[in-house]
Amino acid sequence: MIIIMEPGATEEQINKVVKKLEDNGFRINMNLGDVLTVIAAIGDKRLVQPQSIASFEGVREVKLIQEPFKLASRESKKEDTVIEFPNGVKIGGKNKPVIMAGPCSVEAEYNGLLEVAKVAKKCGAQILRGGAFKPRTSPYDFQGLEEKGLELLKRAKDETGLLIITEVMDTTDISAIAEVADILQVGARNMQNFKLLKALGKCEKPVMLKRGAAATIREFLLAAEHIMYAGNEQVILCERGIKGIDSTYTRNTLDLAAVPIIHKYSHLPVIVDPSHGTGRRYLIEPMSKAALISGANGLMIEVHHDPDHASSDGAQSLTIAQFENMMNDINKLIGRLDWDNQHEQQ
Ligand code: PEP
Ligand code: MN
Repeated sequence: MIIIMEPGATEEQINKVVKKLEDNGFRINMNLGDVLTVIAAIGDKRLVQPQSIASFEGVREVKLIQEPFKLASRESKKEDTVIEFPNGVKIGGKNKPVIMAGPCSVEAEYNGLLEVAKVAKKCGAQILRGGAFKPRTSPYDFQGLEEKGLELLKRAKDETGLLIITEVMDTTDISAIAEVADILQVGARNMQNFKLLKALGKCEKPVMLKRGAAATIREFLLAAEHIMYAGNEQVILCERGIKGIDSTYTRNTLDLAAVPIIHKYSHLPVIVDPSHGTGRRYLIEPMSKAALISGANGLMIEVHHDPDHASSDGAQSLTIAQFENMMNDINKLIGRLDWDNQHEQQ
């Protein structure tokens, strides 16, 4: 249930409500706004009747959460979640959309990664992407450089100052990845790997959760709820396309309506990945523009120094020149969007 306190509710009144709920095994998530205090209480409502809390002094209203996701819901937290990094980059809310760019996989040739990273930074990207641990559909495909890939990401981070996002596939790799990555990515294939989600709940770094290829929006938000319930509220969602009826022209069906839908029902930031979402180079620019107009808090774009020879996803990777060209327009578009709280360009 959600308990909205009166604007002038005293600390004592708030504590009384919290104690009653905690004594009955509820988990409390407090949201101390400038004007109102909102308490999200998760537990067995047979033990504490909402009406009984409604009669406590200082309580303005008690609402039952309608959606099965609670911590992720807009009902439990009205303000957008903004994830802030030590270098000042912010993801979420009215902040300027962020750009994550880089190759699908980190490959052995470091200079290619560095070249992409430098151009990405020059074009306004704040975050370098690249998979070191790769979830591949076929066991015969390139599986990623693993620890060696993390080392290369670390070098690129040190040389460019870009933040790093990279995928985690297994609980046993979390600590090594968290040493290098600023954001840990959960791939579409692991969206419902609940053991991994719970373990990431104990991690102190933000997590970007990609939507499963056949996941409903509700399942997606419930997967985020697992991470949050386990203790990590720094969750970013990523729409990356779902299985549609037509794979002739696209790899997946990019569900852009998911962006405003998630913003309506959740306070978490939403990133759009048109690279995996379409699988076709020529669709990335139009879908990136559409994603920003639909309210995405950022984009994730695959860029490779030599896509024809990429170890994975070359067909959907932009060349460096294509990326630079696209970013000309994207930066103009971002400038025209009415963000009233832009953060400093990194
Ligand atoms: C990726 O971003 O590297 C990736 C594998 O994407 P997805 O999990 O969306 O397929
Ligand atoms: Mn890829």
